[in-house]
Amino acid sequence: MRILIKNTETDHSKKDILIEGNKITRIEEHIDTPVDKVIDGTRKAVVPGMFNGHTHAAMTLMRGYADDMPLMPWLEEKIWPLEAKLTEEDVYWGAKLACLEMIKTGTTTMVDMYHHFPATANAVDEMGIRCMITHAGFDFGKPDMVENYKKTVQSQLEKMAGYSDRINYALGPHAIYTVSADLLKWVADFARHNGLNIHTHLSETKGEVEDALKNFGMRPVHYLKKDGLLGPNLSLAHCLYLDDDEIKILADNGCQVVHNPASNLKLASGNKFRSADLKKAGVTVCLGTDGTCSGNNLDMYETMKLAALTGKVAWNDPTMWSAEETFAIATETVETVTGIKAGKIEEGYLADLSLVNLNVPEMTPNFNLISNLVYSANGNVVDTVICDGKVLMENRKVPGEEEIMEKAAQAAFNLVRR
Ligand SMILES: [Zn+2]
Repeated sequence: MRILIKNTETDHSKKDILIEGNKITRIEEHIDTPVDKVIDGTRKAVVPGMFNGHTHAAMTLMRGYADDMPLMPWLEEKIWPLEAKLTEEDVYWGAKLACLEMIKTGTTTMVDMYHHFPATANAVDEMGIRCMITHAGFDFGKPDMVENYKKTVQSQLEKMAGYSDRINYALGPHAIYTVSADLLKWVADFARHNGLNIHTHLSETKGEVEDALKNFGMRPVHYLKKDGLLGPNLSLAHCLYLDDDEIKILADNGCQVVHNPASNLKLASGNKFRSADLKKAGVTVCLGTDGTCSGNNLDMYETMKLAALTGKVAWNDPTMWSAEETFAIATETVETVTGIKAGKIEEGYLADLSLVNLNVPEMTPNFNLISNLVYSANGNVVDTVICDGKVLMENRKVPGEEEIMEKAAQAAFNLVRR
């Protein structure tokens, strides 16, 4: 398939973009060549697909079900009891709804941690985006749960051949307070042996660090180090309470950190994310929405703005989280975390991109496109989305969107009544 996007206005110059197969192959002022599809890019800017570095896709079903609570009671009293009743069908529709919302707001790759793996994999496969997919691992120190997790992971990995290569299998132990040291060690070995990434929550709350000191006699990063998890294949969600030594250890081991500003603010987990220190140490920082119970939407435009604004106020420094830096963090980091060559509009990169409508008030005047995207826009400015060289949305229409919303809402109401 060859797609030609004509007349885009990305940096005040008009450019045509040729997509052949799943890659951007030419970016020039005028391209005239026979293609299968022409997209009119007049008054539209081409931007890379957003990278959502941490979410729990099918939690869309629980959006608005339990708000305004602290993290642990929220998990223990509301979220986990409901998740215990989830069926594979529920997760399928929840994940479809998440993919739909991500496409509508220009996200083309997500890192997911959830339950009922085949349902999410099928949803992502059908919707056309990319996913580094993990099965959330919990054992609470119970031997039967350890064995069950190991078997599940092994069988899921074997099934990966049946899915598109847009779906990348990784390991997702939930957190150090829900997964035993023995299982964490197994995860580290299994990942190393099979060349897989690992994704987990870490240092999300002050209480988590205090508990680690009390129960393990060390801070969370040291605990992961002891269990052999640290490496360039590890990305960590939250990391709000790192000390200097932990930042250095993460840098030395090439780990990545995913900042989830909406979730951190809503759960009042904290706002002093040490982005400047992480950056200085050389740690890759990316952005995530977290699940829609704690972040409530999957809009990476909103996430960029929240990250930038909370970063500035938390450290009393308006020069932090510049628009350019924030935008790069939300897009280019996909390459470091997942290893795929995406996140930039350049020849040779994967055709994972969106066309943003410039004919809307919030994008006018267009002094600085990146400033408008980070500080002024929300995901509704996204008009067209292409992932892996395929058009997933055109003129804000995703095929089948009405059915997805109807089925997901039905699944959500059935779940809370069950
Ligand atoms: Zn999370």
